[in-house]
Amino acid sequence: MGLNLLTICYLVASVTFILGLKMLSNPVSARRGNLIAAAGMLVAIIGTIFLYRNTETGEHLHNYAWIFGGLAIGGIIGTMAARKVKMTAMPEMVSLFNGMGGACAALISLVEFNHLSKELSLNNSSEFVSSIQPTVLIIVLGLIIGSVSFAGSMIAWGKLNGKVKDFSFTGQNILNLIILAVALGAGAYLVIHPAHSFLLYGILALALMYGVLFVMPIGGADMPVVISLLNSFTGVAAACGGFLYDNKVMLTGGILVGAAGTLLTILMCKAMNRSLINVLVGSFGGSSSSAATTGGKDQGHYKEISLNDAATIMSYANKVMIVPGYGLAVAQAQHACHELEKVLTEKGVEVNYAIHPVAGRMPGHMNVLLAEADVSYEKLEEMEQANEEFKTTDVVLILGANDVVNPAAKNDPASPIYGMPILEVELAKNIIVNKRSMKPGYAGIENDLFFQPKTSMLFGDAKKVLQDLLAEIKNV
Ligand code: NDP
Repeated sequence: MGLNLLTICYLVASVTFILGLKMLSNPVSARRGNLIAAAGMLVAIIGTIFLYRNTETGEHLHNYAWIFGGLAIGGIIGTMAARKVKMTAMPEMVSLFNGMGGACAALISLVEFNHLSKELSLNNSSEFVSSIQPTVLIIVLGLIIGSVSFAGSMIAWGKLNGKVKDFSFTGQNILNLIILAVALGAGAYLVIHPAHSFLLYGILALALMYGVLFVMPIGGADMPVVISLLNSFTGVAAACGGFLYDNKVMLTGGILVGAAGTLLTILMCKAMNRSLINVLVGSFGGSSSSAATTGGKDQGHYKEISLNDAATIMSYANKVMIVPGYGLAVAQAQHACHELEKVLTEKGVEVNYAIHPVAGRMPGHMNVLLAEADVSYEKLEEMEQANEEFKTTDVVLILGANDVVNPAAKNDPASPIYGMPILEVELAKNIIVNKRSMKPGYAGIENDLFFQPKTSMLFGDAKKVLQDLLAEIKNV
């Protein structure tokens, strides 16, 4: 009975994961999707704790103090972190939590191999060895993938919060390949000869080293791709745990995370027009760029626009397109931005938002930010659609965006962002750029757009500028 009820719990949880994931693909249903999947996870956890029975001994779980102690500590830390985290620091937190998932999968492998080793010390007959070989294979895979994901995610976390700098040396890619090959070779040997248990710790060390070295040189705009890739690794490592324990819900969850992470990785590579191999070995965002800020070519002059003039040209425009970027999130100016949209709309101006797939610091960052301010989803235009619209747009208002509107991606083969599709704002009649200074964005490169005749700079913090602009527009 217990087992049947548990199977039903797992089925319910698996269905909620799939439904939740599906609902995450639309901003309108995303919040509900997340809650549904979380509720399913709760059902799976509670079901496992109270209904699981060991198939051989028939025993229930009994180490409740450890289980609930762990749940309480993890729950408190998770809740506090999620409440405190700023929107702009979300990618760091995703990376950190993803790393924890990888570490869990690696620890499961260590614990389970330990159990097997004990059994092996009592019975090392060839029949027993061949019966445990498939399990050892899963253990080794879970250990390697989980450790790479843990170490890589920790480095990605350090990079995103600025504590770890890009680091590479000649021959690093070759060394990485050698480390990976040795780890896989040692893993294969251990599967054939499981009694050589010391090898497991060597594999662990090599996988951790590989995780560090593989993420270290990757930088700049390629970080989101790497985070998404590491996320898919954690999913696969968790699925290994599901195989190990014959736990269907862990398997489903792991496969879903692995598949979703892989698809997101592919989509992001496409959005940046880069192949995955290029991302992994290309050392994006190093200081080699000809367009790097220091020592770059003379960009000419930029012109500024007053609040009053900006208010006037927007009020008399037929069509305004707002391009939100990372700076809008930093300034927490999404509500003021929505207010501007409403005021302009009341004046008969058509206002829409052009959303670049990697604007901000995490996939979907701008969608989440604008949804927070109740901006209608219908007003958001994806890059391809927006690029069609710019030709007939009177004013493009760029709010804290930089790399995603940098024409160097199209015109300068020496630029590190060359090839990345961008929002082609220069097709519009007028461009107003709001940022605080002439400093570069995430990729650390100059932006020719700011020096073009059609472009005017409106300096200041996005929230303050929008509030002042609103006051001016109301007076026009
Ligand atoms: P950028 O990082 O290129 O530029 C943001 C601009 O905002 C800066 O130039 C900054 O200029 C300005 N800014 C900062 N604070 C404020 C403020 N308070 N008010 C007004 N402006 C401000 O942002 P984009 O969104 O254009 O591009 C995103 C970049 O991040 C891309 O290179 C992308 O690849 C990368 N990335 C994306 C991730 C994702 O998943 N979306 C994850 C990680 C990186 P100033 O200092 O002068 O104000």
